[in-house]
Amino acid sequence: MENVYGLLGFPVEHSLSPLMHNDAFACLGIPARYHLFPVKPGQVGAAIAGVRALGIAGVNVTIPHKMAVMPFLDEIDDHARRIGAVNTIVNRDGRLVGYNTDGPGYVRALEEELDVSFAGKRILVIGAGGGARGIYFSLLSTAAARIDMANRTIEKAAQLVGEGKDDRSAFFSLAEAEKRLAEYDIVINTTAAGMHPQEEEQPLSLERLRPGTIVSDIIYNPLETKWLKEAKARGARTQNGIGMLVYQGALAFEKWTGQWPDVKRMKQLVIEALRR
Ligand code: NAP
Repeated sequence: MENVYGLLGFPVEHSLSPLMHNDAFACLGIPARYHLFPVKPGQVGAAIAGVRALGIAGVNVTIPHKMAVMPFLDEIDDHARRIGAVNTIVNRDGRLVGYNTDGPGYVRALEEELDVSFAGKRILVIGAGGGARGIYFSLLSTAAARIDMANRTIEKAAQLVGEGKDDRSAFFSLAEAEKRLAEYDIVINTTAAGMHPQEEEQPLSLERLRPGTIVSDIIYNPLETKWLKEAKARGARTQNGIGMLVYQGALAFEKWTGQWPDVKRMKQLVIEALRR
């Protein structure tokens, strides 16, 4: 019988996850199908009861349920518990186990796409929202020398760095981070500045960027933000948000099936779909 997987969220109709996962199941000869399950706010408990009752093999969880789903699970792994959000659930013989592959997906994408080692690197994370949270806590588990954070609302950066309890981290205003930009080896935009329909916005000025710095933007719509284009023009090595999107999916796929999908192919499919 075919295993059923899917995405719980609201709205979900624009998700690229079915495209990535169904193609990977077909390529690897795994009899399974990934579906979209629109679950309205307040209905996540009922949806999880449905996952149990129907024997659904695994799900991804997206906005607005990543936090709300946690009390309904049987087990939550340490990383997901630390960041306080679950994006992947594995059904192990009726026991539902929650994980978060967003931050680990980001870290692995940067390592593999740009052949980067984090050891000894000084990193600036811009933004302190949901995306930043997973990335920040995943970076804390690397051997980076510094992992600083800057945010428009500085109190949110202070909160996140406070939770991290790691003396390699400090938090700054965006203006202060702009002044310090040359101190960093890797600069990551996790804010929505530059994303459609805020395409003209920039998270911070790149005036003091050192050529050779790695500049990464987790936005994938547009595929290359104006900010990323400017960073490239200033001599940076750049990465867009497709890597994080694909690798968080690949890590979920591996947790469900024990197999590593063809990430190059997944990436190609996603890029083609976004260009359409
Ligand atoms: P979120 O929780 O709402 O956080 C938004 C963050 O962006 C906050 O830090 C906010 O600052 C900042 N921000 C928004 N507009 C800004 C502006 N004009 N100037 C400066 N800062 C601004 O959102 P999220 O879930 O973290 O998502 C953020 C972005 O990441 C989105 O573009 C999303 O598409 C992308 N994302 C990509 C992936 C991927 O797989 N590639 C995964 C997750 C998210 P304040 O705190 O001051 O409001």
